Amino acid sequence: MKKLIKDFTLDELKKWAEEVGEKPFRAHQLFEWLYKKNATDVNAFTNIPIELRKRVGEEFVLNSLKVVEYQSDGESIKFLFELVDKNAIESVFLPYSYGNAICISTQVGCRMNCAFCASTIGGMVRNLSAGEMVDQIINVENVTKKRISNVVLMGSGEPFDNIENVFKFIDIINTKEGKNIGARHITISTVGIVEGIYRLSEYPKQVNLAISLHAPNNQLRDKLVPINRKYPIEEILKAVDDYIRRTNRRVTFEYALIEDINDSIECAKELAKILSGRLIHVNLIPINPVYGKEFKRPSRERIRDFYNTLESAGIQVTIRRELGNSIDAACGQLRARHYNIFDK
Ligand code: SF4
Repeated sequence: MKKLIKDFTLDELKKWAEEVGEKPFRAHQLFEWLYKKNATDVNAFTNIPIELRKRVGEEFVLNSLKVVEYQSDGESIKFLFELVDKNAIESVFLPYSYGNAICISTQVGCRMNCAFCASTIGGMVRNLSAGEMVDQIINVENVTKKRISNVVLMGSGEPFDNIENVFKFIDIINTKEGKNIGARHITISTVGIVEGIYRLSEYPKQVNLAISLHAPNNQLRDKLVPINRKYPIEEILKAVDDYIRRTNRRVTFEYALIEDINDSIECAKELAKILSGRLIHVNLIPINPVYGKEFKRPSRERIRDFYNTLESAGIQVTIRRELGNSIDAACGQLRARHYNIFDK
C-alpha cells in the first residue's frame, strides 16, 4: 500500500532518499514542491529527475484529500473532504484581520461525546495521520489561493487523544522548509486531557493552549463535557497552572454559551471566581444550533451580560467573531449531513 508522503518529516524523507540511493538534498526539493508550491502532482516536480519522480509516484500518495463540497457565507468557508479510505472530515477557513486561519480536524469523529457537538454523532472512527492534517491546509490554500498563517486544532476530534500525530503535524508545518507556520500561530484546543496538558508544557515548540471549559462547576460540566468525570475542573486547573508556570504563556478558556444551560449571571460569577488570578483569557462562543440537539444560542443581551460580569470581575474576555453562522459551522455538522448521520 502506498504511504502518504506528508506523513514524513524532513529528516524521515532524507532517510528515505538515502535508502533509495539519493542525496539528502532531494528531500529538501520534495519539501519545496509539497509545501512551498503546494504541488499535488509529481509531474510538476521539474527539478527532480524523471526516474525519481516515478519512484515517488509509485511509493507515495501526494494528496490524501478530495474536496467534496465547500460552503461560504461570504467570509468563512467550510470544507468537506473525503479521505483515501472514503471517510469524511471538515475544515474551516477563517479570514481575520491579522491573517488567514484554518480550523482543522484531528480525528474522524470524536469519542469525547460533548453534549452540544455534531462530531460525536456517529461516534469515533479513527485518528488522522499527520499528513492528513497537513493536507487540510494545502487543499484549503489551493482552493482559496490564500496563504494560511494561523492554525487552530479545534475541528472534529480531541487533539490530545491523537497526540503523537498532532506533534508530528506541528513539526511538519512549523519547519521552515515545510509550511513555516510559527509555533505561536498554532493553537491546540482540548477538552482538558490532563496528561496532554502536562506533555505540552514540556514540548519544545511554543504553541498555544486552549481549554474547552463550557461550565464553571463539575456538576454542569459532567453533563456538557462527559470526559469531565475523568478530568474534573480542579485537575485541569492544576495542569494549567503548571503549564503557565513552566511556559509563561497565556491560556485561553473556550466557553460555548448555551441558552438557559450555562449562560446565567451566576455561572459568569462562578467562572470568574475559579479562573481569577491566572494568566488566562476567556473566549465566549455563542453556540451554533446543532440539528438533532436541543441547544439554543442565547440572546444578544444575555451574551453581553455574561461578558460584562466577567470583565468587571477582572477577567480578560472576548466574544468570538460570529463567522460561519449561516453555514453548517459547528464542528461535524457538514460531515453529519453529508452522511445523513442526523437521520440515523
Ligand atoms: S466539542 Fe470537540 S472534543 Fe467535544 S465531542 Fe466535539 S469534537 Fe470532540
